[in-house]
Amino acid sequence: MSKNKRGKALWRLPSRSRGTCPICGSTRIKLLYIGKSADGGKLDVCKKCDGKQAV
Ligand SMILES: [Zn+2]
Repeated sequence: MSKNKRGKALWRLPSRSRGTCPICGSTRIKLLYIGKSADGGKLDVCKKCDGKQAV
């Protein structure tokens, strides 16, 4: 599947991929990137926080 971070593919996702980033706290931002939670799990984060470790 190409371009799964753009366009109509997003609208199939729960909440249309928008929410509050758990790391930087931005609201109504697209959470399409993977960060790491404090316990080693995965978090949905925004582009700015791609790959970051939550504290
Ligand atoms: Zn963020």
